[in-house]
Amino acid sequence: MLVRGATPGVSTVYALQYGCRAGVRGEHFLGWDAASGERHDIAYYAWLVLSADRTILVDTGMDPAADPPLTGWSFRTSVPALLAGSGIAAAGVDTVVLTHLHYDHAGGVRSLPRARVFVQAAELAYWAGPAAKRNTREAWLSDRDDLGHVAALLDTGRAVALSGDHEVAPGVSAHLVGGHTAGMQIVAVRTASGPLVLASDALHFFENAETDRPGPILHSMPDVYAAFDRARELAAGGTVVPGHDTSVPTRLGIGQAPSLPVGVTRLA
Ligand SMILES: [Zn+2]
Repeated sequence: MLVRGATPGVSTVYALQYGCRAGVRGEHFLGWDAASGERHDIAYYAWLVLSADRTILVDTGMDPAADPPLTGWSFRTSVPALLAGSGIAAAGVDTVVLTHLHYDHAGGVRSLPRARVFVQAAELAYWAGPAAKRNTREAWLSDRDDLGHVAALLDTGRAVALSGDHEVAPGVSAHLVGGHTAGMQIVAVRTASGPLVLASDALHFFENAETDRPGPILHSMPDVYAAFDRARELAAGGTVVPGHDTSVPTRLGIGQAPSLPVGVTRLA
């Protein structure tokens, strides 16, 4: 069973790992070198933030029907399936923060009928703009149905286009950093054990920050580095959670109720 934050404005945090696949280092670290061909696995996550009265999802995973041009899957489920297995109804999610609009972060948004969705205006503008249309090499990273769904939610007022930092709930704030994508945002959460920052793809792997080395998919190099610093600063000595590191459950997990589905790990 999932545990919620006990006092107002304090949340628990769970990683929902919905996929894992074998890759190589060259896919994950900018700059070809002698190690670029070595195997380097990648995990796929969304994150659940639970206060006494709020159920917040940070990213929504990949559409279960999506077929990205990737191989080597060892494990794949979906965020809606992990939520259901954890006893959270799709209609029970009240808030969604989309850190960015890549297919592996915004793909489950259509399965959440009631959530208010927060996304950065700069991210929406990029994917609707001319550069995204010309950059065909990047086309597979976004899904037309996800983008169309978010646009429709904006029209009805159920999605909010942010311009910068915003408190989405007591103790939970979104911070525009850019870098990886035009409107990449990260999420800071107040937890009983201190601040925790869900860096999503501002930091794919622990190694990106440890070696100050960006990933190869990026919008602005200076903003990638500024995002490393901002994540650290917001965590204030607490925890920064990278978006795709397979070792998150072992490095940051604080124990798992046996009743929870495989892939669900409590982080705070
Ligand atoms: Zn990602």
